[in-house]
Amino acid sequence: METKKNILIIEDEKTIAEILLYNIKATGYEAQTRYDGQSGLEEALTGKYDLILLDLMLPLMNGFEVCAKIRERLDTPIIILTARDTESDKIKGLDIGADDYMTKPFSINELLSRVRANIRRYSNETVAHKIASSTIEIGDIVIDCDNYLVKKAGKELELSKKEYDLLAHFAKNAGKIYSREELMSAVWGYENFYGDLRTIDVTIARLRQKIDDPGCEESLIQTKRGMGYFISAKKD
Ligand code: CA
Repeated sequence: METKKNILIIEDEKTIAEILLYNIKATGYEAQTRYDGQSGLEEALTGKYDLILLDLMLPLMNGFEVCAKIRERLDTPIIILTARDTESDKIKGLDIGADDYMTKPFSINELLSRVRANIRRYSNETVAHKIASSTIEIGDIVIDCDNYLVKKAGKELELSKKEYDLLAHFAKNAGKIYSREELMSAVWGYENFYGDLRTIDVTIARLRQKIDDPGCEESLIQTKRGMGYFISAKKD
């Protein structure tokens, strides 16, 4: 019998924490709650968890700091939960290694579908990582799929996890145009996603800043108006 997936909820608003705990357990997962950033971090670092739900405004240590400290040690999927809805907070959260972002108030069904998607993608990735073994070159960019590294002109780039996943996805499927919905499904793991697709645009904009030459006319990741994004299959 498969062991139950284990989810950690770090949220200081007790009502929200309890609603989450109740629904997550009702879905068939194990779950634990912590009500401040510090004890949440300690619990996360035990490594017992398959996914972490993390509030941003927390006593003792804020969620950004907790997320960054978890990422120093673990690549457990992290979904940030927050009342904030500014683009800069979203970018910051994704930049420091969160996998996903939900703005309160959120629908519990959507949250559960994202929890499922992130857990599924994480287990697939772990399996894929064991069997995949390759390097992809596009111009002066080299993607080392074994070690999740990207180099440009020999220099390693600091990409967030999602930036890496997106770039690798485009590179492995060069020439194919992906709509934002398709990218949500392929890279974020959501099926029938109907939420905020700007996450895609924001992540692609960040990625372009890192991989393109300053002042270049055409990004490596091209936009096909009204259709989506792609990397050209044509070699330089
Ligand atoms: Ca809070």
